[in-house]
Amino acid sequence: MFDAPIPRDPVAHMAAGAGDVPVHYFSPAALDRRLASFGSGFPGLVTYAVKANPDEQVIARLCAGGMTAFDVASPEEIALVRRLCPGAALHYNNPVRSRGEIAAGLAAGVASWSVDCAGELDKLTDLLPQGAEIAVRFKLPVAGAAYDFGAKFGAEPEEAAELLAVVAARGYGPALTFHVGTQNTDPGAWETYLTAAADIARRAGVRPGRVNVGGGFPAARDGGAPDLAPFFAAIRRGAAAFDTSPALVCEPGRGLVADAFAYGVEVKSVRGSAIYLADGIYGGLSEFVSFALPRIRVVAPGGALRTAPPRPRTVWGPTCDSLDRIPGEVTLPGDLAEGDWLLFDGMGAYLNGVTTTFNGYGARRTVEVDRL
Ligand SMILES: *Cc1c(COP(=O)(O)O)cnc(C)c1O
Repeated sequence: MFDAPIPRDPVAHMAAGAGDVPVHYFSPAALDRRLASFGSGFPGLVTYAVKANPDEQVIARLCAGGMTAFDVASPEEIALVRRLCPGAALHYNNPVRSRGEIAAGLAAGVASWSVDCAGELDKLTDLLPQGAEIAVRFKLPVAGAAYDFGAKFGAEPEEAAELLAVVAARGYGPALTFHVGTQNTDPGAWETYLTAAADIARRAGVRPGRVNVGGGFPAARDGGAPDLAPFFAAIRRGAAAFDTSPALVCEPGRGLVADAFAYGVEVKSVRGSAIYLADGIYGGLSEFVSFALPRIRVVAPGGALRTAPPRPRTVWGPTCDSLDRIPGEVTLPGDLAEGDWLLFDGMGAYLNGVTTTFNGYGARRTVEVDRL
């Protein structure tokens, strides 16, 4: 007789007594699978947007899995990647940088830089040697994304054409880049952007060496992973709009890491229809201020899932601040009780790196699991 192997998954961990501290459950196998689908399906270079999850285990795993370039936005992220994946190329794609930050990137051997206005381009060409790749970031009115990235960065197409022409005229490697907005479920967005990119290149009279189609790829956020094939097909169709054949780059964050993690948070107290959690909007649940909730399972102390008919709850975080609440009501099983755990799926992105220690909270453990 053999004992069946104990599955290492979040529910089993909770059943064994997870303690009080919120737990970030990481499935390296899920990350590997997602990397493999980008690697086999995307028609170009796959890089990782470090800001989505700067966890060292994630960077190291992606590096071991063959990732050769990373999208970074600050000297800190540059140092992190240099330490964990020393041979990787760095794409410094925060289009606003101080001169000191540019110098730090230059010293670290950054391979590619993005830009979205004439003033920032002047700063770059003051400091960078000719030949460096400079990608002009442009924006279009977006559709399909969970929120709009174009509100902060990106030149209008006409200005982008002018910038691209200046990049080439000053002897730098011209490239184009965009971001369709995070959690974008419309593959057509990439096709629209690529068609516009081809038009910008034509207007500038420049052949971009590369086009970076950004991140924005959706995660399932329910433990599964959405099929990326329609997105890659749309990218191929869009890239066909170029007379030339620029190399393609993508830089997924959420689409690569979100479904490799789940997040477990204890219910500290139940008061009528209100519940108080061990974490809230100043911690790992910060995205839910502006972002739809993923699938949530409720795990009772022995490991059983709560299944009673749902009822709406007010969900408070642990701090003494009344803003610390998931907006609206959250529908959860009616038999939820103190000491249960909420298990949020698809929590690999925009949790690490954006949490605070407000009011003494913010501690978190990472537990590796075989499956989520
Ligand atoms: C944040 C960011 C990404 C990743 O976006 P996701 O929506 O998480 O895929 C990619 N590129 C740039 C320049 C970014 O700022």
